This record gives sequence, C-alpha cells and structure tokens, in this order.
Amino acid sequence: MSKPIQIYLDNNATTPCDPRVVDTMLPFFYEMPGNAASRSHPFGWQAEEAVDYAREQIADLLAVSSKEIIFTSGATESDNLALKGAFEMYARKGNHIITLKTEHKAVLDSCKKIEKMGGEVTYLDVERDGRVDLNKLEAAIKPNTIMISIMWANNETGVIQPMKEIGDLCAKHGILFMSDATQAVGKIKTHPKEVGVHLLAFTSHKMYGPKGVGALYVSRKNPRVKVTSQLDGGGHERGMRSGTLNVPGIVGFGKAAYIANKEMEADAARLSVLRDKLENAFKQNIEEVYVNGNTEHRMPHVTNISFKHVEGEGLMMTFNQNVAVSSGSACTSASLEPSYVLMALGLGDDMAVSSIRFSLGRFTTEEEIDQTIKLITDGVNHMRELSPIWEMFKEGIDLDAVEWAEH
Ligand SMILES: *Cc1c(COP(=O)(O)O)cnc(C)c1O
Repeated sequence: MSKPIQIYLDNNATTPCDPRVVDTMLPFFYEMPGNAASRSHPFGWQAEEAVDYAREQIADLLAVSSKEIIFTSGATESDNLALKGAFEMYARKGNHIITLKTEHKAVLDSCKKIEKMGGEVTYLDVERDGRVDLNKLEAAIKPNTIMISIMWANNETGVIQPMKEIGDLCAKHGILFMSDATQAVGKIKTHPKEVGVHLLAFTSHKMYGPKGVGALYVSRKNPRVKVTSQLDGGGHERGMRSGTLNVPGIVGFGKAAYIANKEMEADAARLSVLRDKLENAFKQNIEEVYVNGNTEHRMPHVTNISFKHVEGEGLMMTFNQNVAVSSGSACTSASLEPSYVLMALGLGDDMAVSSIRFSLGRFTTEEEIDQTIKLITDGVNHMRELSPIWEMFKEGIDLDAVEWAEH
C-alpha cells in the first residue's frame, strides 16, 4: 500500500515553521540560554541583543519603531490586551466599542467580558460580501465611543476590510483604531501608520514562525497610546506585559518577519495563481459551486467555497486522509453549528455547512493543487450521487417549499 499523500491546505489555522526559522532558533535553547532581563552577565546580554534584533525585524515588517512592539504569547493575548487594556486606560473618555460580528472569538469574547465590566459594545453586521459598510460604521459612532476594532483580513473567508477608510473615520472622530491583523501580517502589506491603525495584534504561527509567541503594535506617537497591563509582575515590555520573554520563540518570530518582508510579494503572486486554478477548476468541473465573500478584496491564498447540498463535514471525510482543510461548521456535541462568520454574510444554514475553506501556503505546490482538484471533485460527485436532496434539487423540486418531517 502506498503511503497516503498529505496535502496541507489549512494554513489559516496555522502555518508550518519555515526551516530557516527553526535554524535561527536552535542556538537559543542550549548554547545561549540567557534571560533577556538578566542585566549582569553575557548570557543575559546575548539574549537581550537577540530580542532587540528580532524586535527590529518585526518593526521593519510593519514600518514602525521597534519601541512600538510589545511581545505576547500570541494573537489571543494581544487581542485581550489591546481591547481590555484600552478599555481600562481610556475609561474616563468613554466606554463604547464598535466591532463586527465576523471578528475572531478572541476579539468577540474580550468584548463580551468588557460588557460585563460595564462597557457597551456594538456588534455590527457586515454586507453580503463580508465587508463593513462605512456609512453604517460611522452611524454607530457615539459621543462615548473610544475604539473601533476591525480585523484586517478574515480568517474564514480571507476578505480584506477597507482599512484606510476606517482609519480616516477614526481620525475624524478622534477614536482609537484597533485591528486583529493576524491573517494579514506577513502575507500582504500591513503598515499601521499608513492606514491609521493604533493597535495591531498578530502572531508568529500564522506567518511561518513558531507557536506561542505574538505581538501587539502600540502607537507611541501621533497619537501616543497606552494600554493597561493585564498581567502583573516584573514590568517587562514597557510595563504593558510582564513575564520572561520567550527568547527562542521571539528570535524565530523575527526571522519569520524578515523572510516575509523579503518574500511575501512573490509568495502572494504564486499562491494567487494556484488559488485561482483551484477555484476555476471547481467552477468548471462541478455544478452549483459558490465562492463566499468578496473576491476582489481578498487574501491571495484563501478561498471559501460552498458546494450546494453537500455537507462540508461529510465531504471532508471522503478526502481528509489526503487533504487537510477546514469546513464552515463546527462539530458541537449534539449538532453541526454553521459558522457564525458565514451566517453573518447572510448565507443560510445549508450553504454555511456546505462550505470548505482552502488556505494555501508558502510550501504548497502546483502538483498538490492538481491532486486536490481531483480528490475534491470526486468527493463532491460521490456525495451527490448518494444524496436524495441533490436528486430532488436536480428534478426541479423547490426544496424550500417541501415540508420536512420533524426529527
Ligand atoms: C489564529 C487567530 C487568532 C489567535 O491567534 P493565537 O496566536 O493562536 O492566539 C486570533 N485572530 C485571528 C484572526 C486568527 O486567525
């Protein structure tokens, strides 16, 4: 029996660590074990120097000062620190935050906590294409609004928000602009100063660095922004985030940023060709295929596709020994929950649970895309052959008019 092929098209969940990143990290586990906060011996100095260097590499990627980079354990922590930290810091200015229904749970759940702490949060709908309507956004701003939190690019659909326009709105109304840019940093240009973002959250493991290390960009000039620390301790990271720095992780994160800065344009050009090949092949080979979200303002390596009347989790079982992707539904103990992101785009339950997210990455090859086209096309055909719903649909029966028995 031949070894099953393993094709990884779930790079929005996490990316493999680039081997060049791993090589850079290795000496910091044993040969250079210092604590970056140890000021009295060469081990500490070496570690501090390595952290400073990585901080510069990451700052260069964002075109900001290294003094504006706060290291954390990942984007979840960065989102928590930005939202709760700004809410506490600017309590005298107001208590209202505006965000979108399509944000990551790290943002939505931080906002839920802020509501428990006495804050007021508006969760705005998005348009059918996944983007925010700027007029609706402006209309939601009130005298007590302190911050708008909108992600740069969506993890499920790859849809990119109108960042500059949102930044201009925030500047006009004198409010903070926070962005979870986890899916965008290192893949497309993300310069916070250019678009007017004051707080930017991101993580190493979505850009070919190691897991467990992330950062928050905090603007230091025009305006000078501060966030209240959420962890008490040694006062590391300019008092905003205590805790011994993950030196090997940070060194790897820095190298990942350096590589991304040099290679992201070429990666994006190559991956958008492969992504389009995949998408076009499905549209040609298979009936009733729908791409979810705006396809013009979209990350180059992502496509989210609904195969009508084919339940995504079931479809995945036909090929998941060979191809790793994500479906638009989460298996809870009792049922299939359609993705709240796709529901917010106005998809019905059936189209949401019929969706598959393909996220390509730096190590994806054309051969893998060709194999994926074949495997998924076969899978969809197989599922539809077995499906009475598909048969009824093909016979022209209006499925919405059918009275389904309770079960
Ligand atoms: C992955 C992800 C996160 C969480 O990042 P961690 O580093 O795993 O905590 C937050 N936001 C978005 C948009 C993500 O894709």
